Amino acid sequence: MSESINPQLRPEMAKLPTYKAGKKVEPVNGLPAYKLSSNEIAHSPLPSVVAAIVDAANEINRYPDPFTTKLNQALSEKFNVPVEQIATGTGSVGVCQQIIQAVAGADDEVIYAWRSFEAYPIITTIAGAKNIQVPLTADGQHDLAGMLAAITPKTRAIFVCTPNNPTGGIVTQEQINEFLAAAPTDVLVVIDEAYVEFNRDVNAIDGIATMKANSNVGVLRTFSKAYGLAGLRVGYFMGPKNIAEAVRKTAVPFGVSNIAQVAAVASLEHETELFKRVDEVIAERTWFESELSNLGFKLAPSQANFVWLPLGDRTEEFALRSEGIAVSIRPFPGEGVRISVGERPALERVIELAKEFVF
Ligand SMILES: *Cc1c(COP(=O)(O)O)cnc(C)c1O
Repeated sequence: MSESINPQLRPEMAKLPTYKAGKKVEPVNGLPAYKLSSNEIAHSPLPSVVAAIVDAANEINRYPDPFTTKLNQALSEKFNVPVEQIATGTGSVGVCQQIIQAVAGADDEVIYAWRSFEAYPIITTIAGAKNIQVPLTADGQHDLAGMLAAITPKTRAIFVCTPNNPTGGIVTQEQINEFLAAAPTDVLVVIDEAYVEFNRDVNAIDGIATMKANSNVGVLRTFSKAYGLAGLRVGYFMGPKNIAEAVRKTAVPFGVSNIAQVAAVASLEHETELFKRVDEVIAERTWFESELSNLGFKLAPSQANFVWLPLGDRTEEFALRSEGIAVSIRPFPGEGVRISVGERPALERVIELAKEFVF
């Protein structure tokens, strides 16, 4: 055989970032390890949810319902949104990919704040579209005026992540109203509310009401965070009918398993119990933030289940040191660390470590 050339990739692959999943750390000298790097809920699933999962396991020889009919119905009733306007997918990352593939192709543009959710650039690049990243303001908030100015005839979608991952701040209703009044209505605006259940700021955007009041707005939500189902991969979109329909078409067929669907439905049924946990996380967040503030850190208030510590060029050092205390946090080199509000002993260790990083 003559000299061989490797199978060739699409040119986009050369610039495709790899998703950095939160690391798991090992116990150190008998110190139990804690993972505060993926914004999961630290509680185990509710027994009632596990029971629904076990029950559904008896049917895994069958393909699931590709339309997740029961889940869509439950969501429709809960939010008073017609089922035609709802689409599900394998986590809201999956749904996010379905959305971009439905609206943006080669040469189109997708706008979002930066830094924000790291799946946006990956998904946009895979679609062949162009990433338009509008820097957050100095205090870590969305620069909606800047995002508005970035809109061109090629813009097909705009993501507004609120509360923002990884900085934790929110966009207010007033800000989004002003933005939507000026934005062209043929551009889809997606409000990513992965952490909405952890928000307690009354001025924050009401995504669903905003979606109902605007023909070009959709919301993206997940069962991975407040509902504690990160391992099952189920999320959903609610928005304009034609977009929801397209988002169903771009889904990987049978992506949402029956196990995931029944767990999601059971979680909606046991929301009161789950949201008590959310309240506990918020109480812990308040405590954690005040401990860090007392040390001298200037924190922008978080409305999510994580706290952003802007450590700048000491970020990597902090990440390394946190491995030494068997706690994994999520570093963004040169910028800061995102710490999930998890178990108290882990947060206490982080506070001890943070004392050495006050400047
Ligand atoms: C965690 C997260 C999601 C949800 O991810 P899943 O795929 O549903 O697990 C979506 N958006 C943001 C901003 C997130 O941080």
